[in-house]
Amino acid sequence: SIPVKAVKEWKYTTCNYCSTGCAIEIGLGEDGNVVTSRGHAGADVNRGKLCIKGLLEAELFTSPGRGTLPLMREKAHLPFQPTSWDAALDKTAAKIKEIQAKYGRDSFAVVSTGQLLTEEFYTLGKLVRGQIGTNNYDGNTTLCMASAVSGYKRSFGSDGPPGCYDDFEHTHCLMAFGSNLPEQHPIIYWRLKEALEKRKFPIIVVDPRVTMLAQFADIHLPLTPGTDTVLINSMMHVILKEGLEDKAYIAAHTNGIEDLRTLLQDYDPKTAQHVCGIDEDRIRQVARLYAKAPAAMSIWTMGINQSTHGSDGVVCINNLNLITGNIGKPGGTSLSITGQCNAMGTREWSSCSGLPGYRLLEKEKDRKTVADFWGIDESFFPPARGLAQTDIFPAIETGEIKGLWLVATNPMTSMPNQPRIRKAMEKLEFLVVQDVYEDVETNQHSHVYLPAAVWAEKEGCHTNTERRVNLTRNVLKPFADSKPDFWIFNEMSKRFQDRNVIHFPPTVEGAFNEMRELSKGEGRTLDISGMTHARIEAARGIQWPYSEAQAAEDEARIGAAEAGHYDMLRRHDFLGSPRLYGDGKFQTPDGRAKLIPVRFVNNNECPDGEYPFWLNSGRVVEHFHTRTRTGKIGNCNKFSPTPYMEMNPDAAAELGIQHQSYVRVISRRGDAVVMVQLTQRVGRNMLFIPFHFHDCVNRLTLGLLDPYSRQPAFKQNACRIEPIDQQ
Ligand code: SF4
Repeated sequence: SIPVKAVKEWKYTTCNYCSTGCAIEIGLGEDGNVVTSRGHAGADVNRGKLCIKGLLEAELFTSPGRGTLPLMREKAHLPFQPTSWDAALDKTAAKIKEIQAKYGRDSFAVVSTGQLLTEEFYTLGKLVRGQIGTNNYDGNTTLCMASAVSGYKRSFGSDGPPGCYDDFEHTHCLMAFGSNLPEQHPIIYWRLKEALEKRKFPIIVVDPRVTMLAQFADIHLPLTPGTDTVLINSMMHVILKEGLEDKAYIAAHTNGIEDLRTLLQDYDPKTAQHVCGIDEDRIRQVARLYAKAPAAMSIWTMGINQSTHGSDGVVCINNLNLITGNIGKPGGTSLSITGQCNAMGTREWSSCSGLPGYRLLEKEKDRKTVADFWGIDESFFPPARGLAQTDIFPAIETGEIKGLWLVATNPMTSMPNQPRIRKAMEKLEFLVVQDVYEDVETNQHSHVYLPAAVWAEKEGCHTNTERRVNLTRNVLKPFADSKPDFWIFNEMSKRFQDRNVIHFPPTVEGAFNEMRELSKGEGRTLDISGMTHARIEAARGIQWPYSEAQAAEDEARIGAAEAGHYDMLRRHDFLGSPRLYGDGKFQTPDGRAKLIPVRFVNNNECPDGEYPFWLNSGRVVEHFHTRTRTGKIGNCNKFSPTPYMEMNPDAAAELGIQHQSYVRVISRRGDAVVMVQLTQRVGRNMLFIPFHFHDCVNRLTLGLLDPYSRQPAFKQNACRIEPIDQQ
């Protein structure tokens, strides 16, 4: 049970774990310390609810392992020496300059995370592009969301999930691809259940594993891993053959239907069933259900994105929704559910492939706009996209990258093929790790450690899955001598003014105002010019685009920008843009969406005689990412203390493996020892291991990359099992 203690004051902020974006209130006691947390009843997103992680936030702020002061050492693995902030930042800046002078500007790379605040992404991006002078700057969101970004861009001409949670209230059919909401996004799941209590509609879940969402579904399609594009193409084959498509929508708003129609002739359910493993009649049934629904929506998470054809999977989902006229209307959408709290923020304001505000690196006009705004020459940063996170580690192996700055990301647990990553880390000439926790596994390899403040000690914005910009308020002072990431980036920029003199606003709101200015422009989707921190807080989040003109209209309608008035606007759904493309105009040159034919190529690592099992990985509800935070929370660990492997009882019986015995799992990359949990959740030739634990499933994963998004395949690996003699 959660101890209830006297709360003197409740402070509003936003939960910093997953991308749901729950509004949370932190309860402070007499002494100003955090004693508990609760959901904010007035917020649209969570309506007073929190999941276990949000409810246990109070334990986080005093958890062990927090960095208290900067540390340095000459060589990785030697004992650290405490140092001052000035010395640590001076050393880092000097090493970056030394490496770049010796090997070229692109020999240094920066990887951040989906857990920073948006103003921090923007500031770090400005420092890396405008002063350090490289495009080798990526977010760890390449491990989770890059395929969604790429798929949206290919279909609609721009990134940005077009739907929102409110679509659950309007849809007549929901299809979930590789998304296990009850464990990954419990409050989005609760929103879905709330909608179902008001009005029944069918839920179809596509997943090789019987997940908690699959248990709840009306129809579960346990497809062969990595064959989603075959299933969706086959559904579209049925829809076009039976004339169930939305002909008017296709004619008015899309290009490419004839090429798509030609390709889909090869995806008759009669033959497709042998590839995707779903019976032909079932394929026809769900195709008809989806196409005949007055509004139907698709959601997806890592089951689609973390694949060698993740981007193609997203394009197929978009094709399905375009041909059925399910984009931009209430209950009809293609909604990627993002992973980290601010995965959207990295997409919007910084990545190796784009410039702030969804401006394009390869577009001369966008490069000039950004460079002029910062007051530098656009030739300073190159027009070619930089290395994605997943390309940075191979580049370390080849010697192309010599130095690395990691911000709140833990590749020594999160990256696939860990034996290879470990070797790469050992080759770095210089590694700086900036993190809340000193004991994060990756810090074993660093030369400088910079202790960062935890989210509730900082101020700034998040964008959640439905494009809602939420505000995080600093409810606490930074712990010991840790500093907000925003402060660290600004201090570092002072050490690069010799390269380019750039103004960095000293306040977070100042940085936000720069972002508002950069986001302006006719027809831009990512327009946040009408937002201010005060408006966002009063409205409990605003969905972009929200232009100055929209804000002026809202203010005129209500009369003033006071909290109570914004609250009224929010309740009447007037604030911001719940959906994109409702007018049928897309971000392509001719304003029409692209129907892109996608042919399935089987490049998965499939089971064979030597490695007979499919290995899948995913989340459990108690933990977040690599457990840097939840691993320190008592009740999260009590409920999920150790890695385990789900195995089918019949397969286990054949190998003489008992429930709760230990086995060695072996792939072509490495091996790991785990405890077996026998369950019918997985089929006879399938295994599942949660990804949160160090030295476990990612010692086995292959990590082949999607050619468009550079996102790795975590979920389709071949492996074998050896029982361990317990005597
Ligand atoms: Fe936090 Fe996500 Fe849980 Fe909401 S669902 S409380 S955002 S972890």
